[in-house]
Amino acid sequence: MPELADVEVARRRLESWLAGTTITRARSADARILRPGSPAAFSRALAGRSVREVSRRGKWLRLLLSDGARMFSHLGMTGWWVQRECGSPKERSERGRIDVERRGRCVSVRYLDSRRFGRLVVSKEDIPEWLALGPDPLGDGVEPDQLAKRLGRNRRPIKSALMDQAVLAGVGNILATEALFRARIDPRSPSGALSRADIGTLVRALRATIERDLARKTSSGPSERGCEDEADGDFLVYGRQGAPCPRCGRPLDRVVLGGRGTTFCGHCQILRTRKRSSATEHGNSATARIPRAR
Ligand SMILES: [Zn+2]
Repeated sequence: MPELADVEVARRRLESWLAGTTITRARSADARILRPGSPAAFSRALAGRSVREVSRRGKWLRLLLSDGARMFSHLGMTGWWVQRECGSPKERSERGRIDVERRGRCVSVRYLDSRRFGRLVVSKEDIPEWLALGPDPLGDGVEPDQLAKRLGRNRRPIKSALMDQAVLAGVGNILATEALFRARIDPRSPSGALSRADIGTLVRALRATIERDLARKTSSGPSERGCEDEADGDFLVYGRQGAPCPRCGRPLDRVVLGGRGTTFCGHCQILRTRKRSSATEHGNSATARIPRAR
């Protein structure tokens, strides 16, 4: 599944292929990908317009067109954009194409998506899914004070809160798992129990994880498949339950939070407990550790 860094790589590719060009023809016949739009509306909204800007928030991509309309793209689980010659044949997983004129040559930018969980949405204005997104950790930067406010004082596990797109845009399972390991915070900790220092550490851990991921994906060159499952060796803890913790060597644990498998080290990652409440409020207080002094 594409993570934030994959979507940023897709944005950079689309920008280099499309920004400043004029769309000669656009086509998609996939009603599921286009929902709630139609093939005719898709072609009509894009053809003849030029592309002013390609932007991203979280896992959504947005093409801003010369008449002010927009095309939004979400990669779902297996979506990816590629560039082809205009005459090249349709591929099996091709769900849409945008042909443009670039330096006198016809270039075809195609949307591939084998499992069809992705979306292509044309609209005269920003769509609710885009407007509901919280700050993007890469594009907007995230201030610890701002994140503390968004997390509030609630009991939701920090891992689930981080993956809420209204809290932070674009944080998926891999990014949340890896950043919490880097920050030494137990993913089950209630988000309201994190101190300002914890939140500062977590923001730095998120940035470090995204930047590492982006550097790796950028240096590996233009890939045809942006979102293949990566080898275990690429992650500190994600998907490595039972393997030795890279920090202390003890076997990594796994817990399910918000329906998602979460790997963590029960020794290195400290469970925070609510600051104001009594210990009896927590069924699992026996397993809680005292946060280390800073
Ligand atoms: Zn450990």
